[in-house]
Amino acid sequence: MFADLHLHTQFSDGTYSPEELVAQAQKHALAALALTDHDTVEGCVRTALACDAAGIEFVSGTELTAEQDGNELHILGYLIDTQNPRLLTEIGQFQTVRQNRVREMVARLNQMNVPLDAEAVFTLANCRAPGRPHVARALVQASLCASLDEAFERFLKKNRPAWVPKHKISAAESIELIHHAGGVAVMAHPGLNRTDQVIPGMVEAGLDGIECFHTKHSPSTSAHYLEIAQRYSLLITGGSDCHGISKGKPLIGTVKLPYEHVERLKERASERKAAASVSALAS
Ligand code: AMP
Ligand code: FE
Ligand code: FE
Ligand code: ZN
Repeated sequence: MFADLHLHTQFSDGTYSPEELVAQAQKHALAALALTDHDTVEGCVRTALACDAAGIEFVSGTELTAEQDGNELHILGYLIDTQNPRLLTEIGQFQTVRQNRVREMVARLNQMNVPLDAEAVFTLANCRAPGRPHVARALVQASLCASLDEAFERFLKKNRPAWVPKHKISAAESIELIHHAGGVAVMAHPGLNRTDQVIPGMVEAGLDGIECFHTKHSPSTSAHYLEIAQRYSLLITGGSDCHGISKGKPLIGTVKLPYEHVERLKERASERKAAASVSALAS
């Protein structure tokens, strides 16, 4: 039995609907999956329903954008209460900033005589957490760029003319928020950031796990983070980070996490939920 604990849908920058995602998971005979859309939990209800119908175990999740020592980090929150009021308020702020950021990116494009309409981006994105991939797709749709790659290379990559930074909270704040919502906090794709120096501080802040298996981790990178997981007694997770068909072949099914790690995650979540309800009673 295998799981994929890192997946995106149309509710952030993936191309699949929840139902399409679950159909793919079924094709790959996954026992469990987690939805980890960027800075949102909007797709969790529909994905859970589709998983129920397909006999797949659903793990609620999100991928929060955080910052530590000037580095952008992604923190996965698993088995969170997706109705938690403070979680919803805080991710609402992320989403407002993302929407304003789209307007700012479009304004910069317009200043460069690229006549993109912000409403075209919002219509295409049709979700609360729009981002650069939606701007890139709108540029291609309006024939203002030939490809998504061109849109990123010319305009949207970091320090390119239409690049606008995102709202970020510190890694410690995002870990605390995930715990507050009864969830388990995991450092996403550490091999992409190569910022191992931030790990001890995150462990101190209560980090529960580390994503050892990821499409972009080579076997030696995975081995490196498995060793780090052991050193700091962190849980082990893994996922494909599938964004649908936006980047060629869908990645779902390329990373198969043994189901025993989902069991460990659920045990930790029960502990976190118990601690969160004790602190809610105390306050
Ligand atoms: P955002 O969260 O709005 O900054 O967008 C980040 C997302 O853009 C990432 O999750 C990737 O899916 C995508 N992305 C970032 N850089 C590139 C690139 N050079 N080409 C294509 N997609 C990219
Ligand atoms: Fe993404
Ligand atoms: Fe990420
Ligand atoms: Zn992701």
